Amino acid sequence: MHATVNSQFYFKNEAKRPKSSKSAPKKRSFLLRNNAIPLTPPRITLARIPPTVYPLQPNMAAIGRFQKGDEIFYAKVVDGELFKLKGDVFGSPSFQKKAISLKGIKTLIPVVPSKVIAVGLNYADHALESGSPLPKEPLFWLKAPTSLIPDGGKIEIPFPNHKTDFEAELAVVIGRRMRNVTPAAAARYIFGYTAAQDISDRTIQKSESQWARAKSFDTFTPLGPYVETKIDPHKLTIQLFQNGQLRQNSLTGQLIFNCYDLVSFISTNMTLLPGDIILTGTPSGVGPIQSGDRLEVRIQGMTPLVNTVK
Ligand code: MG
Repeated sequence: MHATVNSQFYFKNEAKRPKSSKSAPKKRSFLLRNNAIPLTPPRITLARIPPTVYPLQPNMAAIGRFQKGDEIFYAKVVDGELFKLKGDVFGSPSFQKKAISLKGIKTLIPVVPSKVIAVGLNYADHALESGSPLPKEPLFWLKAPTSLIPDGGKIEIPFPNHKTDFEAELAVVIGRRMRNVTPAAAARYIFGYTAAQDISDRTIQKSESQWARAKSFDTFTPLGPYVETKIDPHKLTIQLFQNGQLRQNSLTGQLIFNCYDLVSFISTNMTLLPGDIILTGTPSGVGPIQSGDRLEVRIQGMTPLVNTVK
């Protein structure tokens, strides 16, 4: 029943394909039968979220990446204590039973991605505030991995005369190599979720049709502090506080294309590798940052991501 080639996203060159699936190469017909699942059509319901400050929940299964001296390592974070990870973080790691001393420990970005992918206009209310129509399929681009900074890192404004905005986003962290994966199977390839910002030089963004330059300056992608590996990504509040003031306030359930749709769609275009990051878009309420600002992304069930502006 899913084989309807309603797959506006998956098979753009469908018209060029022979009509009979028998004449198609075996792999193609497998994809057609199993991958041609239409994505959820864009909704236009706007989020109406009361300006409540939601309480933070304790970490369920947070994994972080740390440095002490010359040593870089992963650890599980439980109630502010670190338990060192042994083995491959994306495999079946084990953890030391005894917490390590926190003295001299620095928090790093939680993973080292081969690429950082960002999705635009993925909340209806943000598309409305930016005067853009809702996308018919996910709109994504690449951000330079060198734009990443960890929790506590300082954001630098490259052009003080430009408008530079904060954007709070839920980030997906890929856990297994994937290519052409259906939305239904996507969760199995996801390592977890973390908080992020997609800092944007709006002056450049508005003057160019490509967004990579406006969003790839060094320090423009705060990420972390930890990856939550056991969380339902579509039932979370997402908020941004600027100097303690609530600026963005929404629910990840309002995503136009949800995390599984996005991961699946992107995997039909490029191979995703363990550690790759997908920023899922920002809700309404984006605004300019200034030197000295303290920006805090709070996503329900996660440790807040806090950064200051240099
Ligand atoms: Mg964004």
